[in-house]
Amino acid sequence: MSDNRHGSGDLDRRTLLGLLAAGALQAADKLSFAKGAVIRTVIKDLAPTELTGITLFHEHITTESADGVVIEELNAARQIGVTCIVNARSERSVSIPNLKAISTRTNVHIVHCAGYYMEYAYPPEIRNKSEEQIADDFVREIRRDGIGALGEIGQSPNSRELSPLERKMFRAVGKTHLQTNLPIFTHNPYGTGPNVPREAGLRQLDAFEEVGVKPDRVAIGHVCCLDDSQADIMKQIAKRGAYVGFDRMANTHPAPPPGSPPPRNGQVHDISDEQRVKEILEFISAGYEKQLLLADDNTLQPLQIGEAINQLEKVQWLTGESSAKIKSMIFHDMGTGRTVSRFVPKLRKAGVKEKTLHTILYDNPRRFLAFEPKNS
Ligand SMILES: [Zn+2]
Ligand SMILES: [Zn+2]
Repeated sequence: MSDNRHGSGDLDRRTLLGLLAAGALQAADKLSFAKGAVIRTVIKDLAPTELTGITLFHEHITTESADGVVIEELNAARQIGVTCIVNARSERSVSIPNLKAISTRTNVHIVHCAGYYMEYAYPPEIRNKSEEQIADDFVREIRRDGIGALGEIGQSPNSRELSPLERKMFRAVGKTHLQTNLPIFTHNPYGTGPNVPREAGLRQLDAFEEVGVKPDRVAIGHVCCLDDSQADIMKQIAKRGAYVGFDRMANTHPAPPPGSPPPRNGQVHDISDEQRVKEILEFISAGYEKQLLLADDNTLQPLQIGEAINQLEKVQWLTGESSAKIKSMIFHDMGTGRTVSRFVPKLRKAGVKEKTLHTILYDNPRRFLAFEPKNS
């Protein structure tokens, strides 16, 4: 009896140790966040563990309406698992009440941003303000509007380096981060002309680091538009600790006809998804899967097409049924979440494991967006 008890005691201890080891493994695999870290959406602060769906870290909500097509587009994204988007600031900005209404109506969390795009989009007074004054203005806005990230912070197309004013803006955004802890993401000028150096994203990181920002709070955006077949620049960015943004996948920007004037805010360099898949495989095999972020950098187009289809339905050129069918195709191919519906299957087909896809789509954005509130 006593031997048996002794035996079963041993067994229990072994089982217990096994369970503890399994638990430790799980814990090591589990995401951990700093105590008090939140993800700040326009409605409320979320604990990072509350964000359980796919998050797209760089999108644009381009309408001041909380009715109609924008709701349909986000509902379609929600159906494929997207539960949070980050609304980047570029040329146009929509109002906070509108974003709250859209979020409430769709059940998609929205993280709103502060920041300026590139030099042509700066308000004139930026020229005369110091870095500290610009940062103080941002901090006031962040407090007032419940801002959850800084971006997209851009660099003009076809330029060799940040302009002096853009450099001031990057440093001011870095100083805003130091006061608030908000994560930062950028607009890399990528393939927007022969003058852009391949390592533009690394130089952007330099500008933030100069003022004391830690690279792991920064995502360098549009790296997917860089012709980086060996994933060389991607790996250099990740080696320094920053996130790499692949945020314009499955895009539909045809190259402009030869001799066209360069568009004011840049042209997407046409890298095929096939090359992008290879770059990601190389990046993952180098051990950087925890530093990749995906998004669509959504544009106005799907909304405009969706509205045109609604008009055709109104004048009875389309039935309700065919109008719904066409819109669902448009949203799938061009709308918010197209990286999930069109690009992720290509990664899966190339052999990227479900666990890795989960890390990239669910966990990395939470890690990037979670911050310990300071001054807000
Ligand atoms: Zn951009
Ligand atoms: Zn953008």
